Amino acid sequence: MNIHEYQGKEVLKQYGVAVPQGKVAFTVEEAVEAAKSLGSSVVVVKAQIHAGGRGKAGGVKVAKNLDEVRTYAEQILGKVLVTHQTGPEGKEVKRLLIEEGCDIKKEYYVGVVVDRATGRVVMMASEEGGTEIEEVAAATPEKIFKEVIDPAVGLQVFQARRLAYAIRIPNELVNKAVKFMIALYNAFIDKDCSIAEINPLVVTGDGNVMALDAKLNFDSNALFRHKDIQELRDFEEEDEKEIEASKYDLSYIALDGNIGCMVNGAGLAMATMDIIKYYGGDPANFLDVGGGATKEKVTEAFKIILSDRKVEGIFVNIFGGIMRCDVIAEGVVAAAKELGLDRPLVVRLEGTNVDLGKKILAESGLNIVPADSMADGAQKIVALVK
Ligand code: ADP
Ligand code: MG
Repeated sequence: MNIHEYQGKEVLKQYGVAVPQGKVAFTVEEAVEAAKSLGSSVVVVKAQIHAGGRGKAGGVKVAKNLDEVRTYAEQILGKVLVTHQTGPEGKEVKRLLIEEGCDIKKEYYVGVVVDRATGRVVMMASEEGGTEIEEVAAATPEKIFKEVIDPAVGLQVFQARRLAYAIRIPNELVNKAVKFMIALYNAFIDKDCSIAEINPLVVTGDGNVMALDAKLNFDSNALFRHKDIQELRDFEEEDEKEIEASKYDLSYIALDGNIGCMVNGAGLAMATMDIIKYYGGDPANFLDVGGGATKEKVTEAFKIILSDRKVEGIFVNIFGGIMRCDVIAEGVVAAAKELGLDRPLVVRLEGTNVDLGKKILAESGLNIVPADSMADGAQKIVALVK
């Protein structure tokens, strides 16, 4: 789960990470009021969307007086920001962060991630802050420093110092940077984050070390133990289809392609997307209906796929182990009859009650293309949407 920058900064503050003072605003008036109450001569008006790259897209503006705050708030609120992370459709700005302007001496990068290669939490840092870290990693990987953290003891002071020196934090501020990194790591662990990225971390003219941006992602499997974090969820930032899917406990991720997939089991779902790609198609989603799905759940899953106008064809690929093929077939038929099946549908069923499942599909009167194998099904659906 993703949250807004201003929320991330509130969370980090609880752990002692230094952040500028700021307030959220939902209207232009609130923005001006917030700026007044901050009492700082320079304030920054920042678009709050669940995507980075706002600065370059005109979503971060420095205002030198209240009139400028009003002007920028009017400009940014309601605007659709297109950044490299939003996709071409962009995201509408509905909230602003009004924050005290910071006298930046230099920008750095610090991120905490889960590293799959080592199976550990890793802290990364770079003196190339403010820019996209992916670009730094591609062009000058030697400028990114990493510390692998032993979960039994956590981030050690010597590791934080090593990072601070590696990215050339001024000597007199190394201790503040160390304190910052340890606080960031503590927040990451305590709140079950999957990413905590500070870009930029800045050193200021008056000798402080601060987070000017904050991106926190949380492991959704651990959210049940963080009520406070759950409350920060902003449904307006999420894909409607993904919200609908989460209500029915379906693992659904929207993708950019045009072939809707309904599959049981995460492994088979991944393999299905791969084989569609292999035959030259593009999956519109990842969807795992799970092992013990009911007819209702399958119906909902199918509706979610059909509601996606990008979907030009559907591939149902089911291995009936715990899941029975007849249940899948009934769900597909129910949803298709309810919504009308206006796009090609290829179904490959295998496993428990497969014959019964095939019979239900064949007798449904719906235009369903049966497939004998995964490869056969993938080739058929790719050909049908071409
Ligand atoms: P994004 O990563 O989405 O572009 P950031 O929060 O990183 O957004 O802001 C972009 C840039 O704007 C920063 O790299 C920094 O130079 C500047 N900036 C952001 N917040 C402040 C602030 N409070 N004071 C001064 N400059 C800021
Ligand atoms: Mg940033």
